[in-house]
Amino acid sequence: MVRETKFYDLLEVPPSASEADLKKAYRKKALRLHPDKGGDPELFKEVTHAYEVLSDPEKRSIYDARGEAGLSEQGGMGGMDPHDLFGQLFGGGGFGGGGFFPGGSSRNQGPRKTKDLVHRVHVTLEDLYKGKTTKLALTRNRICSKCKGKGGKDGAVRTCNTCSGRGIKVTLRQMGPMIQQIQSPCDECSGTGEIINMKDRCVTCKGKKVLPEKKILDVHIDKGMKGGQTVTFRGESDESPTAEPGDVVIVIEEKPHDRFKRQENDLIVQVQLDLLTALGGGEFSIKHLDDRTLIVKLEPGEVVKHDDIKVIHGQGMPSQRHHEPGDMYVKLSVRFPDSIDPAVIPMLEKSLPPRTPTETFPKNVVLDEVSLDDVDTRSRGGMLRDDPMDEDGEGEPRVQCANQ
Ligand SMILES: [Zn+2]
Ligand SMILES: [Zn+2]
Repeated sequence: MVRETKFYDLLEVPPSASEADLKKAYRKKALRLHPDKGGDPELFKEVTHAYEVLSDPEKRSIYDARGEAGLSEQGGMGGMDPHDLFGQLFGGGGFGGGGFFPGGSSRNQGPRKTKDLVHRVHVTLEDLYKGKTTKLALTRNRICSKCKGKGGKDGAVRTCNTCSGRGIKVTLRQMGPMIQQIQSPCDECSGTGEIINMKDRCVTCKGKKVLPEKKILDVHIDKGMKGGQTVTFRGESDESPTAEPGDVVIVIEEKPHDRFKRQENDLIVQVQLDLLTALGGGEFSIKHLDDRTLIVKLEPGEVVKHDDIKVIHGQGMPSQRHHEPGDMYVKLSVRFPDSIDPAVIPMLEKSLPPRTPTETFPKNVVLDEVSLDDVDTRSRGGMLRDDPMDEDGEGEPRVQCANQ
């Protein structure tokens, strides 16, 4: 069992992922999130940091056992410039040289920041089509206004004697022939490195210097946004007396839609036509993602074949930048009747192309007449049935019945 899954979640892999899985997942995410491709630099950094940790077996085992806190005790935070890692993995300078990484390489010199708060919002395709503003309530720490972040009266704050203000306690443990050094937060000062006498503590924050505060953020989901894109609120993460506030990063997740599939700015929809409409024309409708319904006319004389794919131009998702619409691809399937009145067959013979004649065989071939039966769906059908909407393995898992 791993203790935290945040880094795995960032890379969208299970904690059991192999090194190759991790690399593949990072590559995929990094290409999508790269700032030169319009991705969010903060999230790209987060994902890169997650990969940097998980791709190092030693760091990964620390993370699995003790989470992110375990890593910071090891002094392993900060790490390398995501640009360096990206370049190292994929060769060259990424997408056109350095210098595109504001704050990335200067992170170590710059002011320390509190952790970014990353939050995922699941957005329907309808909302991504039309755009939407959603409210998001979050709780983050704010500097206590009573003590102005000092935790107590002036002069009440002393350095912790137990840890000499380092906030860390080091214990040595004998592990067979080896002596292991374990670092943990100092019990005396709870890892803060400071002691405030109980009676001098700020009554409002109880000496914690910060207080949790609820804030409502208006998250503007722009038309045409895609899953994996982010909305960043600079400096809205936790405040701290010793660090600059980090950012709140909202990650957009696209909810699967029951009628449409999205491919970049195109939409794909499956439409079933009856045989008469497929052969003789007529019309069908497609309910769109806004309050419109598209009526599609089929001219008589033009035959729709089963599995035909047609396109309706300009009815896809809006592009994010200029809201130029993509296209809508319509996958047509033809629903055949279960049976037909034999009396109408001569009329069909008159209007449809003639039957393909049976091949003729030499005399020595034995012609054996057999009957075509329905397949028993309980035993064999599961293997033979092919539902085109489920071709990507999505949707309801199929229940397989045991053979009889
Ligand atoms: Zn206070
Ligand atoms: Zn201490």
